[in-house]
Amino acid sequence: MLVAIVKEARADETRVALTPDAVKALTAKGVNVSVETGAGVHSGASDQDYQAAGATISTNRGELLATADVLPVVNVPPTQDQEKLKNGAVVIGFLRPLDEPSALDVAVARGATLFSMELVPRITRAQSMDALSSMATVAGYKAVIMAADHLPKLFPLLMTAAGTIPPARVLVLGAGVAGLQAIATARRLGAVVEAYDVRAAAGEQVKSLGAKFIEVDLGGLQTEDKGGYAKELSPEALELGRQAIAKAAKSADVVITTAQVPGRRAPLMIAKAAVEDMRPGSIIFDLAAPAGSNCELTKPGETIVHNGVTIFGPANIVAKMPVHASMLYSRNVNNLLQLIVKKGEVVVDRADEIIAGSCVAHGGQLVNERVAAARKAQA
Ligand code: NAD
Repeated sequence: MLVAIVKEARADETRVALTPDAVKALTAKGVNVSVETGAGVHSGASDQDYQAAGATISTNRGELLATADVLPVVNVPPTQDQEKLKNGAVVIGFLRPLDEPSALDVAVARGATLFSMELVPRITRAQSMDALSSMATVAGYKAVIMAADHLPKLFPLLMTAAGTIPPARVLVLGAGVAGLQAIATARRLGAVVEAYDVRAAAGEQVKSLGAKFIEVDLGGLQTEDKGGYAKELSPEALELGRQAIAKAAKSADVVITTAQVPGRRAPLMIAKAAVEDMRPGSIIFDLAAPAGSNCELTKPGETIVHNGVTIFGPANIVAKMPVHASMLYSRNVNNLLQLIVKKGEVVVDRADEIIAGSCVAHGGQLVNERVAAARKAQA
């Protein structure tokens, strides 16, 4: 059985799907691993590191794609790569099956078995495979570091002989995995932090990190689904949130936005008027930019300045932390692989809840109902 690792095709990608540590664990079990030359170079993994882990190095990408039984990836392979896959090959990665299912058409038609890291169920047994949480952790940290670097102010309270410098004020919108990491990072740098989330459970977590939770009375509205995620809110509830946010944003130096609703466009949380009420020199860092943005003025993939407010809309912020992002992602993928590779063979046991939840396509068909519905809607 061959596991192949190729260079990510996306221009702004620096991560690699499996690092040498994971390769070593696979080769120790008798699995053959072949790596495209240079695949790990941005993640601190050289060809020699992969060779030392027992992999072979190849310069022939086409051959790797055509012979792989398992192809762990970070992003959806481009069509020209999918066209080379052999029938029955297993592809595992962030395949964005609910966002752009048609981008997988060629692989599905070729009979590939596709696993989406986004759809790994968030159950206790699958925690070690939760790549969304891994990447959100990296993103939340990096957003604060980049904002602190850009802010023309210091973050901590400083008492100097020349006078006292007040601490920076950071507002975090969405207190899930990325938001909580952003709060913790901003607190470590000495900022005063406020946060808002629609899920009541988030309030306690925010407070436990030493930040203030902004309470908004949504009239007892059910805001959380049974999976612990936020539900899509009514326009009225969203507007109540926006009003509270606009008020808090006026005195914020940095606003980090992370709010998302799985399978939906990210909610609009900061309207243009609220940006125009913010202080010049302040920053909005929109981590929801790839999912539709939380700020009305965000331009995904760009950094713009509006009335003196800088708005970052990074398209792939985790790629700015490739070593640790790859390390965590590789562990997540490898843990999922352990469920699929048994005694050196690929076994797709769809009676397993994790396999069933994350499997998008098998035997030439979309096998996930939500993905099939999303594909129909895209037709
Ligand atoms: P996410 O990336 O989907 O969303 C980020 C945050 O945005 C969430 O906290 C959400 O409540 C919030 N949000 C959405 N719409 C909003 C709005 N209109 N206004 C304000 N906030 C809004 O979520 P996530 O960070 O991936 O995870 C969210 C939840 O899932 C958390 O409770 C987390 O603890 C839980 N979780 C559980 C597991 C597990 O059990 N294995 C793993 C990871 C996360």
